[in-house]
Amino acid sequence: VVEDFDKVTDSVCPFCGVGCQTQVYTKDDKIVLVDGKDGPANNNRLCVKGRFGFDYAQSKERLTKPLIRRDDAPKRGDIDMRFMEISDIFREATWEEALERAASGLTKIRDEKGGNALAGFGSAKGSNEEAYLFQKFIRQGFGTNNVDHCTRLCHASSVSALLEGVGSGAVSAPFTDALKADCVIVIGARPTTNHPVAATYFKQATKNGTKLIVMDPRGQDLMRHAYASLRFKPGTDVAMLNAMIHTIIDEELYDVQYIEANASGFEALREKVKDFSPEAMSEVCGIDAETLKDVARTYAKAERSMIFWGMGISQHTHGTDNSRCLIALALITGHVGRAGTGLHPLRGQNNVQGASDAGLIPMFFPDYRSVENSDIRGQMEDFWGRTLDPVKGLTVVEIIDAIHEDKINGMYIMGENPAMSDPDQLHARAALAKLDHLVVQDIFLTETAWHADVVLPASAHAEKLGTYSNTNRQVQIGRPVKPLPGEARLDWEIIVDLANRCGLDWSYDDVPEVYEEMRQVMKSLDYMPWERLEADGSVTYPVSEEGAEGSAVVFTDGFPTEDGRGRIVPADLRAPDEVPDDEFPMVLTTGRVLEHWHTGAMTRRANVLDDLEPEGFAAMNPREIEKQGLAAGDMIEVETRRGTITALLRSDREVADGMVFMPFCFNESPANRLTNPMLDPYGKIPEFKFCAARVGRA
Ligand code: SF4
Repeated sequence: VVEDFDKVTDSVCPFCGVGCQTQVYTKDDKIVLVDGKDGPANNNRLCVKGRFGFDYAQSKERLTKPLIRRDDAPKRGDIDMRFMEISDIFREATWEEALERAASGLTKIRDEKGGNALAGFGSAKGSNEEAYLFQKFIRQGFGTNNVDHCTRLCHASSVSALLEGVGSGAVSAPFTDALKADCVIVIGARPTTNHPVAATYFKQATKNGTKLIVMDPRGQDLMRHAYASLRFKPGTDVAMLNAMIHTIIDEELYDVQYIEANASGFEALREKVKDFSPEAMSEVCGIDAETLKDVARTYAKAERSMIFWGMGISQHTHGTDNSRCLIALALITGHVGRAGTGLHPLRGQNNVQGASDAGLIPMFFPDYRSVENSDIRGQMEDFWGRTLDPVKGLTVVEIIDAIHEDKINGMYIMGENPAMSDPDQLHARAALAKLDHLVVQDIFLTETAWHADVVLPASAHAEKLGTYSNTNRQVQIGRPVKPLPGEARLDWEIIVDLANRCGLDWSYDDVPEVYEEMRQVMKSLDYMPWERLEADGSVTYPVSEEGAEGSAVVFTDGFPTEDGRGRIVPADLRAPDEVPDDEFPMVLTTGRVLEHWHTGAMTRRANVLDDLEPEGFAAMNPREIEKQGLAAGDMIEVETRRGTITALLRSDREVADGMVFMPFCFNESPANRLTNPMLDPYGKIPEFKFCAARVGRA
């Protein structure tokens, strides 16, 4: 409790997709405390990031003036700004000069080489309005669909499977419905670390009798509350899930009436899983056959069952297949479309759902309407008054490759940090260094901004107004609580200024005006005017009619597919792209830690969080550490076919034998220097969760 404050502002947390509502206490324009508010996703709860991660916004490292790369700056490339003076690389500039330099560099490439020589990365940390304006600028101003953001590294494969299977990439029910479920499966997700407030509802559900099944190659806290914990062999998800489906079909536990009325593809699934008996798959996935049968029966027989999943499912070259299995489980048992049932990919960033909805992806206009459909494109051309690119754009990793191939020469990056977040980091950084023109808009001089020609100082979450859509499809308003530092500006205003300098003629008075324009092309926001968001504090989309409650549970009456039926797509077992061998005998898997958010740009500048988790590490099982002749606390080298990094060795019983786990937020031990950029063929998501590695003392 803080007594010394002069203002309290209602807002939302800037970190994960749970979307906790906050009350932000300020004194003399500084945040002094963040408390939980009684929002629908958090009921006053906050995790350590939401509660103590606020002071990055008032860090002395904030960018306060536009920067332009000095003519005599060292060659771009894998420079490490931690060991350099900013003034050796950049000089301060006026906004006029910086925007002019940014715009002229981008338009020169567009005019000489065409719009497809440009690309943009927006951010899931930004608001819906920023995402909408950013993609509109890239599409309308550059004439290309080369626009993407970190959803490509997060749940792109889940979304591709969901769009194919149930016609919508969003969750079918909120995570709070776990309290209504008799059985909950959490697979490839670590909610106590990455969605901590959602995890509290899962734990609460088990106290009420819900059977929790946790499936993860690594051990985790949630397993203490679980009815069954399945630590399967990494990369064998399809074997394990198909064995469950086999049991459900073999023992006739499927819902015949539901399938007949609502799903197609059942017979093909039945045929496919014949080869996936639990007895046959037990050896493959490392889970005994009886346990596989028991969890299958528990899920299928329960009155209400839900499935939650995370990047342990999605970040594989077979990520779409993994999600197809989960969708098949729900469709054959009828565990979807009712309260306490459903499919819920736990979304990562606070606005990754909203940014995707707003069209910050290369294949869809806002609301997932295909850029390649001439009718839809015609509507958008009429609305935006420009001819638009008829071909879908490139995705995140494809854009990096296209830079190396000289097909893309300029980029505008807002709030993303691909120099830390992309796989095969040296390859990604070399691409950024190769660009003829790079404009970065951010609040810190990130590892990506090191490579920029122009850096535009932007607004932190705590300084701006905007809407954010959480993992539950709840749209909520984030509000400014403090002034911008120095000459930093609001992101939406920067996008508008840049767009106008690139030949557009935009005029917006404020954020609500942008939101209302979005509503004109996004049916998902029907009956959700800005005033209603203000009045209700949170509105779940879709809303069926004026004044109606939002639909927390969807697919109650069929699916938004062409024939109204869910589509079961059987999946085959495929090995990860790079499996261990004599040279690289271990499996490297990457992920997050509780205290740090993604690439660490914000949380490593939040004092409490940085004190709690101050340095990069690699974690291995104590048995494995001993086997390798190492000791916890050693500095070790972790090596893959893409590079070598050093890290502090941490002993962690949760890590499986033969595996090394590394978080990707530490720039002194940058895990993504090692990861495999090979993509899932459908979602185009890289295989962050599995590659071959070796370790040794540094
Ligand atoms: Fe913020 Fe997520 Fe933590 Fe809630 S659970 S406080 S949204 S980081």
